[in-house]
Amino acid sequence: MKKYQLVCSVCGKPFEDEAEPYVCPACGGLMEPRIDLSAQAEHYRQVIRDGCQTGVWDYRDLLPVEGVDEAVTLGEGNTPLLSADRLAKVIGVESIFLKNETVNPSGTYKDRFATLALSMEKAKKTPAVALGSAGNAAAAMAAYSAKAGMPCFVLLPPGAVAERGWQVRGYGANLIRMEHTIDDCISMAKQGEILFGWKSLTTNMLTNPLPSDGYKTIGYEIGKQLDFQVPDWVIVPVGGAALLNKIYKGFQDMLELGLINKIPRFVGAQAAGCAPLADAFQKGLSKPEIWPGVPQTVAFAIADVCVYDGVTALDVLKKTGGGAEAATDEEILEAMHLIASKEGVVAEPASACSVACARKLVQKGIIRTADRVLCVLSGNGMRDLKLMEQGQKEVPFVKHRDVEGVKAAVNAYLEARE
Ligand SMILES: [Zn+2]
Repeated sequence: MKKYQLVCSVCGKPFEDEAEPYVCPACGGLMEPRIDLSAQAEHYRQVIRDGCQTGVWDYRDLLPVEGVDEAVTLGEGNTPLLSADRLAKVIGVESIFLKNETVNPSGTYKDRFATLALSMEKAKKTPAVALGSAGNAAAAMAAYSAKAGMPCFVLLPPGAVAERGWQVRGYGANLIRMEHTIDDCISMAKQGEILFGWKSLTTNMLTNPLPSDGYKTIGYEIGKQLDFQVPDWVIVPVGGAALLNKIYKGFQDMLELGLINKIPRFVGAQAAGCAPLADAFQKGLSKPEIWPGVPQTVAFAIADVCVYDGVTALDVLKKTGGGAEAATDEEILEAMHLIASKEGVVAEPASACSVACARKLVQKGIIRTADRVLCVLSGNGMRDLKLMEQGQKEVPFVKHRDVEGVKAAVNAYLEARE
């Protein structure tokens, strides 16, 4: 008997065929593995209470993993939850928490997917893996492929940030630059399954529901880190929406197990230059439409024209009394500076989008001053330092042995601080 059953994340209908696309024929919701928690409730409660000591695999009993004898792991997960008091003051709320996923091995939350995916494919003796990605998923899959000793092929769309390509190549993956969009890269990676026998590892529930479950461990970690006193709001950057859906799933499991007594309101944070989920939420749709035209935003990591797991995401927003918000590039870059200068974390623009959207919701009076807010910082911004430098003042230059020059430079900084 299987450890889990695939069921619709929206209407609960069971899914008999384990085949793509993993979409519910009845309602269009995404399928997800469901483990019968009631069978060993006390054991599962203990697993979540014990929490993550060494990584995501500490939650193995709650993950849809079978037949893996040896995990491919780099110590992912167990990321800090920071109490961001200085940032809270600027934003105008009493407490704000940052779930700092930037410290994962390849720099993003995608490592929680990659560890499960590569472990499963290695156990199945899959000859190679591939994916179409603008950078973060590619970096994660390349890192874990390196650890697994498996070839990895990455199809990179135009406009991808060079530093991410360098990271992928650094891990020894085979990079192919493509002329067309990210969707074209994803579909070519899929076609390659027949041509080359590799496994396409697109990081969404639509095509890979099992490793996507790795993200729900973020929810478990937050629960434990807050002593199971859940925040009022959880704000998550949304591209394909698997991250939001799975953090919600983590909270849903904890509610079912009686570890928490409510589920926070979930908000999908998007960039105004590509905001199909926010648009669908405003219009009251149950399925996001394809974003028309080319995305225009610095937050390229969430600039997905198609919200692959969007039907489930809209359902989560509705069920939890949450919503969706979109921030402009200016607001995102300002948030990126604030997170770094107030809290010491360099987050990529897509991550900063969650903080930018929190700020907007406070300004609109939707988030109240006394609310406890949690923003997910999904990825590291060390590869986006060029953006951080934008709008900064010129660095003063002092000539050899010019003490007066140093005094003038120091004083200029001190005056600017006052
Ligand atoms: Zn359904």
